[in-house]
Amino acid sequence: MERVSDYLIVGGGMTADAAVRGIRESDPTGSITVLSAERYPPYDRPPLSKKLWAGKPLETIWRKTETAGVDLRLETRALDGDASAHTVRDSRGDVHVYRKLLLATGGTPRHLPFPDDDVIYFRTLEDYQRARALCDRQAEFIVIGGGFIGSELAAALSGNGCAVSMVFPESGIGARIYPPALSAFLNDYYRDRGVRLFPSESVTDLQHSGASIIVTTGDGAAVRADAAIAGIGIVPETGLAEALGLEVDNGIRVDAFLRTSHPDIYAAGDVANVYSPTLDMRRRVEHEDNANAMGTVAGRNMAGRSDRYEHLPYFYSDLFDLGYEAVGEFGGAMEIVEDWHEPFRKGVVYYLRDGRVRGVLLWNVWDRVPAARALIAARETLDPHALRGRITA
Ligand code: NAP
Repeated sequence: MERVSDYLIVGGGMTADAAVRGIRESDPTGSITVLSAERYPPYDRPPLSKKLWAGKPLETIWRKTETAGVDLRLETRALDGDASAHTVRDSRGDVHVYRKLLLATGGTPRHLPFPDDDVIYFRTLEDYQRARALCDRQAEFIVIGGGFIGSELAAALSGNGCAVSMVFPESGIGARIYPPALSAFLNDYYRDRGVRLFPSESVTDLQHSGASIIVTTGDGAAVRADAAIAGIGIVPETGLAEALGLEVDNGIRVDAFLRTSHPDIYAAGDVANVYSPTLDMRRRVEHEDNANAMGTVAGRNMAGRSDRYEHLPYFYSDLFDLGYEAVGEFGGAMEIVEDWHEPFRKGVVYYLRDGRVRGVLLWNVWDRVPAARALIAARETLDPHALRGRITA
């Protein structure tokens, strides 16, 4: 059946919800259809690996997108379409005709090369519910991956009384972002709280033995548990964009107004590759603040505005009773200046390239994201020693 909407949004996550709000700011009555492969209406994703494990009630996560006057079609996947005819075909056989289209398709969890439905590739509310039910039975877990999902869930499960083993390829937890000494401290911090760590290890095999899962690591260790959770990154979901003939390169390429290579098709959130004027680079950002801010701008522009997306998003994490906010660029080959008020408990870490601050990690330091953004935007060439005390708790 053919269905006509002013705005068609593909994806049912935080970006999609933000876009609906952005559209409604200037177009209170235009018809909006949202196609979501998920079983549930849009919800906040960060609590799934953080606050829901610390007692936050499940009912607080809902974004209530449906109250904004949208036709929300759950468990419906957009399959393909025709950009010149302004159509998208979905998995229920409907063909959607749109005036403006937003691709907010996010990413799909990367899988291990061992087909196994029992591994929870943690991303959705259903994944949370599976993990929660197992944890409530005090299952023993293997957590694969030492990035955001791995570090947050290992802490959350352990904090809820479950035995946890972590297997990850880096030398330390979060080593891709944190300075080496902080990452080494985190290894000890997790071990002190009973988490068994297998750092610098890959998973070479995954087998079932009775009700147990046995993961074999590269050095031949066999790690047994009742359940396995993997957080080994996501792959941007660009299939529809490719079917529509859009430009794709590490995600869907968009311009400053979040338009793809077709002027009536926008992209935002985890899947969108956008130029950051502050950092002077193109990148994809897989965090909540980016989903919210980018979705809002995309929605506004679909409804007729011409706002540039210039926001420098931040991200945050909770690891047992440690926590942080961070903004900018992080990673290997950057100069790092650590300014600890209390080593590894409270402090600010600066990440520089060519003498300029590109990223700031605010470790247990709160309400300083605007100061960090201003420092990065200033693009001053700095003597690294002058950074000590620059942003304080
Ligand atoms: P991630 O942060 O990119 O971490 C992936 C981890 O898996 C890294 O430790 C990676 O190691 C490891 N890995 C990769 N391939 C592996 C393999 N074959 N076996 C074992 N480990 C492997 O991704 P994520 O934790 O899965 O998170 C998924 C997405 O959700 C990310 O986009 C993330 O930004 C987002 N998220 C964000 C937050 C937050 O903002 N606080 C929280 C949760 C999730 P290498 O580095 O060596 O590849």
